[in-house]
Amino acid sequence: MKYAVADILKGVGLKVTPTRSLILGVFAASACKPINADELYHKLASHALNLVTIYRTLESFEKAGILKRVDLRKGSVYYELAEHHHHHIVCTECGKTESFEACEVGKLSKQILKQSSFKNINQHALEFFGVCRSCARE
Ligand SMILES: [Zn+2]
Ligand SMILES: [Zn+2]
Repeated sequence: MKYAVADILKGVGLKVTPTRSLILGVFAASACKPINADELYHKLASHALNLVTIYRTLESFEKAGILKRVDLRKGSVYYELAEHHHHHIVCTECGKTESFEACEVGKLSKQILKQSSFKNINQHALEFFGVCRSCARE
């Protein structure tokens, strides 16, 4: 899957700046992997961006609907591209994170809706936690 960073920015009405392109480029290159501000800071170390700029850019991307937050229970906020729907499984021992696209939640949503007082359900967030094989061996 290829993402044209400039097109994504223009598509949501954001000006294409070098900082925005760099940060969005990291997400585009690692499509399924959630990333936090610290990781971006280190990945882009050669460009000397400061953390405040990175936080601000991430927030503006979230507001624009390009990125969404993912709660991986790792003590910091992770983001990933919003348009690609999938779920994660996280190792509670070492933090290893894998993503998978199989999503059966649509069916479940219909059941939940029937039993609720809601008109519709249009989003869901669902992550799984467990112990990876290499941690289980120790
Ligand atoms: Zn592990
Ligand atoms: Zn889903």
